[in-house]
Amino acid sequence: MTVCVVGHSSPDTDSVTSAIAYAALLNAQGTEAKACMQCKADGLNPESKLVIERFGLAAPEFISDAAGKKLALVDFSDIAQGPANLGDGEVVAIVDHHKIGDITTNNPILFRAEPVGCTGTVLNKMYKDAGVEIAKDVAGGMLCAILSDTVNFKSPTCTDDDKAAVAELKVIAGVQDTDALFMDMLKAKSAVAGVPAKDLLFRDYKDFDMKGKKVGVGQLELATIDQVADVREELKKAMEAVKAEGRHSVLLMLTDVVKEGTDLVVLSDDPALIEKAFGGKLANSSMWIDGMMSRKKQTIPNLQKVFGC
Ligand code: MG
Ligand code: MG
Ligand code: MG
Repeated sequence: MTVCVVGHSSPDTDSVTSAIAYAALLNAQGTEAKACMQCKADGLNPESKLVIERFGLAAPEFISDAAGKKLALVDFSDIAQGPANLGDGEVVAIVDHHKIGDITTNNPILFRAEPVGCTGTVLNKMYKDAGVEIAKDVAGGMLCAILSDTVNFKSPTCTDDDKAAVAELKVIAGVQDTDALFMDMLKAKSAVAGVPAKDLLFRDYKDFDMKGKKVGVGQLELATIDQVADVREELKKAMEAVKAEGRHSVLLMLTDVVKEGTDLVVLSDDPALIEKAFGGKLANSSMWIDGMMSRKKQTIPNLQKVFGC
């Protein structure tokens, strides 16, 4: 039976290109496999669409139900992130770079996870271990996945292995300038034209409980803050509406990935408290915080401190 290689739901570039790369490796090793993904081609995120087009890759096949199928999982190992009825399928391999999830198997499987920035980096090693050459188009996809997952090496999750993999893959893919490639991907990913302000606010949004107070924090990763200049007032209106639903504060991180900082838009019952959290001064409901890139590692811990969590 053909092995369906599939990444997590709401697939990102790593999930898409790792499915392609691992399916190709399995085929080269004599195991019949095909790349799959948990969305239809027209539902693919704009960054992955660009990557597929740029390198002439075929979009993986849509899969929604795992029942009766043989599966290899890439970029995840959590049941909740898999296709429906994963328990009624047979997982035969997992290649990942996250914490180990809750998937269990009845038989021994190939399981390879490493604490690196991207599944593409792990796969690059697996190709070398197997002595299999990576096709040019596939190398291009893997390269893009590493640039995306590591935010062009700026993410705290990036390792030397990721940098080494990019150095190798760019040669195979025939890419001269990985910074320019990353910027093209970022622009596609952060395109705001025609997207309703509320959708932008919720594109990457999470609510947190801060000592009984509800605080919402959204983040938009941008190539430049100018990208949202025209929709700033609409974003604020969307934030006001969300705040009126019973939140103490709503924050929107407009993160400039190039300047490595965040224009933090703040609507709060206690603006002075938020200013204190980040040591800044709000002007027209926003303040620039140099070096702020990560909600998980920077924004939330600072908020928790001032809220007394
Ligand atoms: Mg991923
Ligand atoms: Mg990944
Ligand atoms: Mg990611």
